[in-house]
Amino acid sequence: MICYRAPLVVPVSRAPIRDGAVLTVDGRIAALGSFSRLRGQGSRIVELGDSIITPALINCHSHLELSHLAELGRKNYGPDDDITVWIRALLAARGKEVDGEKIKAAADLALRRLRVGGVVLTADIGNVESGRPQVAELPEVMFFLELLGFNPPAADEALGRLETFNGACAAHAPYSTHPRLIRAVKARARARRDIFPIHTAESAAETAFLATGGGPLRLFLEERLGRLDFFTPPGCGAVEYLERLKVLDRQTLCVHCVHITETEVEILARRAAQVCLCPGSNRFLRVGRAPADLLLRYGLRPCLGTDSLVSNPSLDLWREMRLLQEDNPALAPEEIFKMATINGAAALGREEFGSLEPGKDARMLAVRCERLPGDIFSFLVSGEHQAVWLEDYNGS
Ligand SMILES: [Zn+2]
Repeated sequence: MICYRAPLVVPVSRAPIRDGAVLTVDGRIAALGSFSRLRGQGSRIVELGDSIITPALINCHSHLELSHLAELGRKNYGPDDDITVWIRALLAARGKEVDGEKIKAAADLALRRLRVGGVVLTADIGNVESGRPQVAELPEVMFFLELLGFNPPAADEALGRLETFNGACAAHAPYSTHPRLIRAVKARARARRDIFPIHTAESAAETAFLATGGGPLRLFLEERLGRLDFFTPPGCGAVEYLERLKVLDRQTLCVHCVHITETEVEILARRAAQVCLCPGSNRFLRVGRAPADLLLRYGLRPCLGTDSLVSNPSLDLWREMRLLQEDNPALAPEEIFKMATINGAAALGREEFGSLEPGKDARMLAVRCERLPGDIFSFLVSGEHQAVWLEDYNGS
């Protein structure tokens, strides 16, 4: 049994503990509390005189298989560019022949970077089964095969993949996925008790397309698919549309939720749906910012995701916290830290992570600080510190 002692332990699920200690045994937390209470119980004491112990982070949305196209995530889009400019660039780049080994190597590197950034679990969305990285010592990956297909023939093809794939699946987005396919992916997820991720209300173009059937997404889709006679715009926002399709519940993970009305926030709350915010990607694509304060006011517990290197120059979850705070100065930093930890664990149904409690996973972080900050959570979400894994801690 190892006893980690630090000037501050931040369990997240309860108040921080000054001069705290965490006892671990066989990769699990055995106990935590004040050092004075636990000091006799560890066979070995590791003193972290200059650090705060926190849970490891959880990235609830990424597309690791796109990491080889990271140059797209470093471009600058103009203020007048709508999201279809970026979608076109992405599809053009993906259309080129690429060596599978290169895709895999870039995905593995991205996953290693997530680990360096303190991420213990990441939800990874991919369109090809072979694009998923599988390196045991890296953060755990929950892989979702993403299906899309807007016109009936493409939706039928995707339904075929849904039947043959033996794993969890995601639907891409309301503007790219036929309603029949969205419902089928969700029905399968319900039967398997899987999380069901879907990009939701990311851009103004998506909202316009669902509301009226017009806008830049219509032009884009017509270019690719011809006439859209098969599609009747629902005449509402993305969340309301998903509500009508009856796919919102506790296991549905709505990613982005930038362009949603208060009525839609209320719907999400009523269904206890999960919301994943991606402030870095939203900022990069200039699509706006999600109403984080409103989501919290309605009792939702958003989690955080980096999205991919194609729409974000970095896969650093600490940076996501900092950007979210910048975008929402009034948001309590503690709520932001919860999004990157305990809320993420709940959203993915992996509650062995996300907080420090007896019985939970013992992969924890040591966040360096020379002296204890006055406002702990402001310090944590500022990103102005170095965090290392407790197992890699080797003193200051
Ligand atoms: Zn995404």
